[in-house]
Amino acid sequence: MTEASSFPSWLEPAWQQLLLSWREQRLAHALLFGAPAGLGKRRLAERLAALLLCAEPTPAGDACGRCQSCGWLRAGTHPDLTVLAPEETGKAIKVDQVRALCAELAMTSHAGRYKVALIAPAEAMNSNAANSLLKTLEEPTPRTLLVLLSEAPGRLLPTVRSRCRVLNFAAPPTQEAIAWLETVAEVDDPERYLALANGAPLAAAELAASGVLTERDQRLQELIAVFHGRADPLKIAADWQADAGTAVLPWWRQWLQMLLRYKLAQVPPAEAGARQGWCQIADTVDSREMFQLCDRISATERALNSGLNRQLALEDLLIRWARLAGPPRKVRTT
Ligand SMILES: [Zn+2]
Repeated sequence: MTEASSFPSWLEPAWQQLLLSWREQRLAHALLFGAPAGLGKRRLAERLAALLLCAEPTPAGDACGRCQSCGWLRAGTHPDLTVLAPEETGKAIKVDQVRALCAELAMTSHAGRYKVALIAPAEAMNSNAANSLLKTLEEPTPRTLLVLLSEAPGRLLPTVRSRCRVLNFAAPPTQEAIAWLETVAEVDDPERYLALANGAPLAAAELAASGVLTERDQRLQELIAVFHGRADPLKIAADWQADAGTAVLPWWRQWLQMLLRYKLAQVPPAEAGARQGWCQIADTVDSREMFQLCDRISATERALNSGLNRQLALEDLLIRWARLAGPPRKVRTT
């Protein structure tokens, strides 16, 4: 399957816009793609990078897929492409990483064409890192392109944001997303995965491919057990630490949103595992307290990147959750 044929249909207008800028030689040297996860920011950036690095782009404006540069890209060894990410998942992008990137961008291209850097997630740059990028954003070396990818562009320094050409994307209409998932990503039961991915089609495709639903269902059952006093919040917090930021906390937030939609608008949860246990909980808890817990979970997710003690933070959330069921009870250990 070629990049063009599997490319997300909803990104086509943004792609055409970039292509036109490139053809007219007015492509900005710094772009900021802002969108929730799973909408294809990276696909768009990679398609553009491939085009700029390719020796013989097609007349339609795509990388040829055959030249040495395209080969390097496929192998992940292109000397003119740098992808900057936190050294550890969930941690900050540090100032030394950004300085090294800026030094790299100031040198001439190895292949005689563009030099491209992707920074993702851009909001992971701490303020020193972001400040050290400013000079490169202000005085870029010719034929360099910086693409910042961000799920939360509002959290970038305004001085960084204002020096980038900003493209924001929204999720496609459900019918378009389902059609793409069915025909291009070949996902069975696309409605279910799309609902779980909050309408983000690429996230839905990833979810379908990962088999992560078994783990997700287990986490949900653990959460229900904590609520009913059948599991120890301290032990569950310890089990959850490793994937708190990538899985458990975002899932928990989704489950609470499902619970609130059920409680306030009688929308049944899209997830089979949630239907029974969740609806029962929904009938007993207070909506205002649910909203407060959602806010706390979001705040914890944000703070995970800044050296928060994960065990303590998860314990705090789980104990609050268990308290919503009523006065503290003794955990039964059988
Ligand atoms: Zn090529």
